[in-house]
This record gives sequence, C-alpha cells and structure tokens, in this order.
Amino acid sequence: MSKNIDWSNLGFGYMETDKRFVSNFKDGAWDEGGLIDDPTVTMSECACVLQYAQTVFEGLKAYTTEDGKIVCFRPDLNASRLADSARRLEMPVFPEDKFVEAIVKTVEANIDYVPPYGSGATLYIRPYMYGKNAVIGVKPADEYEFRVFCTPVGPYFKGGAKPITIRVCDFDRAAPHGTGHIKAGLNYAMSLHAIVDAHNEGYDENMYLDAATRTKVEETGGANFIFITKDGKLVTPKSESILPSITRRSLMVVAEKYLGLEVEHREVYFDELKDFAECGLCGTAAVISPVGKIVDHGKEICFPSGMDEMGPITKKLYDTLTGIQMGRIEAPEGWIKVIKE
Ligand SMILES: *Cc1c(COP(=O)(O)O)cnc(C)c1O
Repeated sequence: MSKNIDWSNLGFGYMETDKRFVSNFKDGAWDEGGLIDDPTVTMSECACVLQYAQTVFEGLKAYTTEDGKIVCFRPDLNASRLADSARRLEMPVFPEDKFVEAIVKTVEANIDYVPPYGSGATLYIRPYMYGKNAVIGVKPADEYEFRVFCTPVGPYFKGGAKPITIRVCDFDRAAPHGTGHIKAGLNYAMSLHAIVDAHNEGYDENMYLDAATRTKVEETGGANFIFITKDGKLVTPKSESILPSITRRSLMVVAEKYLGLEVEHREVYFDELKDFAECGLCGTAAVISPVGKIVDHGKEICFPSGMDEMGPITKKLYDTLTGIQMGRIEAPEGWIKVIKE
C-alpha cells in the first residue's frame, strides 16, 4: 500500500523511509551487504570521512511510469561514475553490478514510498560511501561503508518551470587537474559559502568559470549548462573539471537522435553567451531548469526566451527526456531499469 503522503506538497527534503542498504569494506574486501532498519551511523570520532572528507556520492530517482511500472533511469552510469569518484579519492570501488542490485533492493524495500505517476514527485535515491575507520595522519582509510537510502521528494517545479537568474561567481568551483569531475562531498562543502552569498544577493545559482583563465563557462554547484544557439543547435560546455552529468549526456542523445538537432560539446567562452537564444541547467533533480538571465557584476545577459517560460527548444528537450523517463516515448536500449513490472 502506497504511504499516505501528500505527494504534490512534498519539498526536496529528507524523510526517513523503512530500509537502507549497507555494505562494509574491511580487510580488503566488501561483505555481502544487506538491508537494515537503522537510519543512523555510528563510527569513530576520528573517521577519515569526518577528518579529511573522504566521501563520494550519487543521486538518482525511482518513479512510476505511465503504465504503472516502477523504474529508475540509467543506474549503470551512476555505478560507473561512483567508481570513478572512488578511484580519485583512493577508495575501493564498489562493484558496478552490485551497485545496481543495491539500488533495486533499496527501492523494492521502500516501494510504498515511490510516488504515483502524474504526481510529479519521485523517490530520490542517495548511494554514497565513506572512509570509516580512525585516521589521524593524512592517508586513505582501510575500512569503508557503502550505503543507499532513499527519500520521497516533491515535484521540482511547483506551478511551472519559471526561468531563474544566476550570477557569475567570483569563487572557483574546481581547479584544473582537481576534483571537479567527481561527485565528492568536498566539492559541495566549498560551494556552500558561494551559494549562501548568491542567495543573499538575490540570485538563484552561481555560474562558475574555469579557474585557470576565468574566460570559459563550467557549471553551477550542482548542474551542467546547456545552451541553444539562434539557429537551433545544442551547445554544452566541455572541460576536464566539469562533473559529467547523466542528464546532460542523455539530453545530447535526445537532441541528436529524437529531435534532429546538431550537438556541440566543446569549450564555451563566456563572451559567447550573449549570442545564445536559450539557456538551461540540467541535473537529476530538475531535469532542466531554464535560465532567463545571467548577471556578471551588474552587466546583464538576458536570453531572448525571457523570464516567463522555458525556451521552445529547451521545452522540447525537457518534454522528450521526461517522456522517455515516464514511458510515454520509447527509450533507447538500456536506459530504463525496471524495478517492478
Ligand atoms: C550531480 C551533479 C550534476 C548533475 O548530474 P546528473 O547525473 O545529471 O544528476 C551536475 N553537476 C554537479 C557538480 C553535480 O554534482
């Protein structure tokens, strides 16, 4: 029985659900792992994650499709990205097939928290792992915990996707040859001051530029950029320090294969932005948030799509990708992982 939750009024917050998946790495190997009830974690006061932020994570969603299946979207890509993140922080890789199994088990065990089709709400899934044993000299932990919990979250856009205003940020997100390309907690810790400051100044998000030259567009704290040119091409920034968004990679396929658009994945100079017709932010949570305006120290770049609605091509991309996710449009092979028929 579906839980008695007011799905349409849920926010993006944590709600404890029934079960979580836990596996531990010790003496050089991962254990079998399994579902547990305890939503708390107990560990050494000197755990590597607490002292030196040795932690990486993922984020994906389970939801109900039009024909009543419970599915998630491309979890194999989350598995391989978590493996890449782990390697960069000298953590043991959680096997990719076991990762997908853990997602399935966690959703199955909390199936009553999967929101119904049409509610706009989803079950957000958070896989993560961290160095758990005591470490005082700076070195990687020897013991790790991998966990997956899930929490129902409300529709990202309540009452339509209103374009947002973002600012060019004076802080940098990621150094060249740094950790910008992995999904690590440390990248978020250092973004907190910048986002609180942006909100205090009345902006919705920060646009980060490349740290070396501050001439090229990177991303925001938690989403990749897409731009639409006046002649209808999709342009999306390429950089070694951008997190490879699964939503962005999927939109590139949707643009080319479903909408017949030309796609350019390349360096994007800040000076080019004034020539684009549309702009959006893409990530699992919102799929696409339209951007209406970018402010660079008082100088405004206003996209022709305006501040009232999503640009027309952005809307097509959004409708097609969400259509694929929700089972209204046929998905490319392997994109939809069915958890319950
Ligand atoms: C998670 C994340 C994204 C979005 O990735 P998706 O796989 O599309 O959810 C983009 N940028 C950063 C920095 C992120 O952490």
